Amino acid sequence: MAARRAAMFRNRLTIALTLLALSMIGARAQTYGAPPANLKTHLDRLVRAYPDWISGYDANALIMKNGQKFAITDKSTTKTFDELLEKPDIDDMFFADYPAGATPQAPAKNFDPGRVRFEPLFIAMYGDCFKAQFSKNLRSVAWLPKHQGGQVRITTANGVDKALEAVSRELDELPSNLMGYLKPNSGTYNCRRIDGSSARSMHAYAGAIDVNAQYGNYWRWSMRPGSEPKWENKIPVEIVRIFEKHRFIWGGRWYHYDTLHFEYRPELLPE
Ligand SMILES: [Zn+2]
Repeated sequence: MAARRAAMFRNRLTIALTLLALSMIGARAQTYGAPPANLKTHLDRLVRAYPDWISGYDANALIMKNGQKFAITDKSTTKTFDELLEKPDIDDMFFADYPAGATPQAPAKNFDPGRVRFEPLFIAMYGDCFKAQFSKNLRSVAWLPKHQGGQVRITTANGVDKALEAVSRELDELPSNLMGYLKPNSGTYNCRRIDGSSARSMHAYAGAIDVNAQYGNYWRWSMRPGSEPKWENKIPVEIVRIFEKHRFIWGGRWYHYDTLHFEYRPELLPE
């Protein structure tokens, strides 16, 4: 009798330990850093997106027109999500495909297409705002001129100023009840790092604009400590689609959302 009970106890113990081991495997954090399956497509788009700066790529590196080379991969495939943001390589910029044109909806966990930027490439193209001489690339453009939206300062590199003017012209034609989402705007150029991060915001390259913060939602503003971001959005899709047409991505498509934020990222959008 005692032997049977002992055997039953051993069986139960084995089952409990197996379940514990399985749950630990399930709970293991996802890792990042492996190149996407369609890396070549992304690299081709990257080269076409920035013709003033990038001449092409070989098996290992992106090749700039001035001969500078950037390794495409750092070979790490075990990055945490924070490391992906802080220490990305070139292929990490494509870890999530940007869903251009899609109906706005809550993104899957850590789905942040475009939030990862390989900083040396962006500094090579736009300059380093923490150094002198950066402002020579800035130009003032009219924001919603038909609705007296004032002027914004934006980079001339990669024709971002012209792309923003085209956005502004089209937004200006939207029904006037939508203008409140867009003006006053909440800023373009701002030499800063992202909150809680050492990585630079696209505002540091003068390649981003925040629309009216009164109607914006930002994951850090609404998150309680220890909880996950809960996606919210008030920005109408008509506005998003005009920006995307001119190859600005929208922060409302991120799990770590920033719905007032648009930045010029032609490598992530259809030509
Ligand atoms: Zn922003």
